[in-house]
Amino acid sequence: MINSRKLSDLDPAVRKICEAHVRECKHRGIEIIVTSTWRDFESQTALYAIGRTVQKDRRSVTKARAGKSWHNFRAAWDVVGIVSGKPIWDAGDPVWREIIKIGKTVGALAGADWPTFPDLPHFYCIPDKITLAVALRRWQDNGTIFV
Ligand SMILES: [Zn+2]
Repeated sequence: MINSRKLSDLDPAVRKICEAHVRECKHRGIEIIVTSTWRDFESQTALYAIGRTVQKDRRSVTKARAGKSWHNFRAAWDVVGIVSGKPIWDAGDPVWREIIKIGKTVGALAGADWPTFPDLPHFYCIPDKITLAVALRRWQDNGTIFV
């Protein structure tokens, strides 16, 4: 079961954008840390179970089953801003607006833009606007969605 936060576990094309995101934030005086990169299917399934079939007292932490998250294809990363040494989880904090703006400037798509369940810490890159179904096929055939 793999639930990585290493940038080296991202697809090389995605890693470049993620690195630019971290660098550009730093350049503007915002420290961000990457909390999640690649999650394998098994790990996604375990995460999906939280709040549903296990740890039922918790809120669910993802809407995505295995194969339905760009994290499963090494194409997404999650971040949190660090201010005065502490992670800022409050969605109302203006630092998020900056982090999201900078992410989009360096070429990422932002989970913050999802109309139904905005996901502020989530950024992703996908080739040719492919669907998750196409991504799954590419992943199974080639081990990467960037073909
Ligand atoms: Zn994410």
